Amino acid sequence: MAITPKLLKAQAEYQRKLKAGLVKVPPYKDPIERLKEKPMSRKLAIEAKCYDCCCFLKYEVALCTAKNCPLYLLRPWQKMRVPKTYDEEKANETN
Ligand code: SF4
Repeated sequence: MAITPKLLKAQAEYQRKLKAGLVKVPPYKDPIERLKEKPMSRKLAIEAKCYDCCCFLKYEVALCTAKNCPLYLLRPWQKMRVPKTYDEEKANETN
């Protein structure tokens, strides 16, 4: 997303409203909580299952290698940026 003057102005306005208490940050809901609100959603059900399967870590779903799982091709967050290990980050810094 490009940072435009219009975007910066909107962000500043949002921050001003937050400080003034005019708006509230929406509470974060994990995939399981979202499924409870909409239990007939297939998409949310798949997200919740994979989220649960991977110890509640979304990036672990991206790393899933269980190709025999029926949800493998449908799993969410497949293109999520996976955090690098400390050693990988250090190796990249020196190159
Ligand atoms: S696709 Fe992977 S993360 Fe999702 S349920 Fe199957 S094994 Fe678990």
